[in-house]
Amino acid sequence: MSILAVLGGTPAGRVETPRWPQPGPRATELLSEVLASGRWTVSGPRQRDDGMEDRFARAFARFNEIAYCVATANGTSALLMALEALGVGAGDEVIIPGLTWVANASTVLAVNATPIMVDIDPETLCLAPRSVEAAITERTKAIVVVHLYSSVADLDAILTIAERHEILVVEDCAQAHGARWSGRRVGTLGAIGTFSMQQTKLLTAGEGGAAICHSVDLYDRLFQLRADGRRRAVAPVPGEMELIMDSTVMGSNYCMSEFGAAVLLDQLALLEEQHTTRDTAAALLSQALAEVLGVTLIAALPQVTTRTWYYYTFRIDRQAFGDVDAATLCQALSAETGIAFQPTYPPLDRHPLYQPHTKPRYSAEHAVRLRLDPRQFHLPEAVRAYEETVTFHHSVLLGDASELEIIPDALCKIQTVPEELQRLQREARPLSNPT
Ligand SMILES: *Cc1c(COP(=O)(O)O)cnc(C)c1O
Repeated sequence: MSILAVLGGTPAGRVETPRWPQPGPRATELLSEVLASGRWTVSGPRQRDDGMEDRFARAFARFNEIAYCVATANGTSALLMALEALGVGAGDEVIIPGLTWVANASTVLAVNATPIMVDIDPETLCLAPRSVEAAITERTKAIVVVHLYSSVADLDAILTIAERHEILVVEDCAQAHGARWSGRRVGTLGAIGTFSMQQTKLLTAGEGGAAICHSVDLYDRLFQLRADGRRRAVAPVPGEMELIMDSTVMGSNYCMSEFGAAVLLDQLALLEEQHTTRDTAAALLSQALAEVLGVTLIAALPQVTTRTWYYYTFRIDRQAFGDVDAATLCQALSAETGIAFQPTYPPLDRHPLYQPHTKPRYSAEHAVRLRLDPRQFHLPEAVRAYEETVTFHHSVLLGDASELEIIPDALCKIQTVPEELQRLQREARPLSNPT
């Protein structure tokens, strides 16, 4: 008879995960307004009132306490536009973290620059400032810093390095809507902050994104980049096009639909309260997990004055768990608790979705292939994090916090049967790829 639930034993308990996403009170009304309006996108004719996309962009700028916001189709397009707005292109190198979603590498490639993958700081799981500095060359044009899971990268150190070398910083806040660093919203410390509103994110319309900035020039470029180069008419007339063909940069179509913007206006009103609920639950869980031998919490840096929780993460001492990897432990923990536990993203040097050589747009020349080969980068901390870090989605923290006690109970139970864990690991499993 096995003890572990994943091998047929009795589970430690059951944590109910609330449904995510959760529509708010105004969603239906706002969506109906769009349906009836005759304007389903910013490139449709102007109506009497401002469109949802414009209203959301202003509301999100206000939320972030910054002057400008451009809404986008998704987080990936926001990143790509940010790089283009900053003038990143052919011959440039862009420093990105070795542990993140694949979009950080693919967007650098997409603007014809070279992604330079840099190792992470095990304390934050975000870019390690010292490794950033070591990776700078005369070709380095920008750093894309990602605030991963529930952390904020060491912005003070990274911004200091960037300033010293005159390099631009993009903050990818796809996972950190609303977090604060020394009192300021993340995304407002670098030149441009980007966000994703994809289904799993803290603020979502299924798909969506945004780019925020202080500079009116950058705003002007971002605005055009997402609307095929078009600008807004100075005095738009109802019934006529709001976007006009007057451009200084060539763009593409990365517009957010009016439907997405309507849902985001509804969701934005819920965000702070959801943050508070998650924060209370995370504090209870962290307190309980601190008692478990072989578990290390990921603490926020002292400058993080508001912490947000996208994926709750903790590290394991593998020796305390039969020396198995995080993927195996996640499998066991999921069966014990009913929560979908996942390891981190695979490190980018071995990420199954990062395959530049499959794109005909890049030259097959040997030198180009070498330059884009991710295996050249040395990412030992990202690899270690992948092997030792356990994560679960923030929706779990929106449920009944008292049920979270089951997680430390399950960890203690799992520790008693290392030989069962080892048996589990011997069975092959495919890589898991959370967004
Ligand atoms: C989700 C995510 C993206 C991509 O956003 P999409 O809206 O899915 O295009 C980029 N970076 C990070 C860190 C993300 O988590």
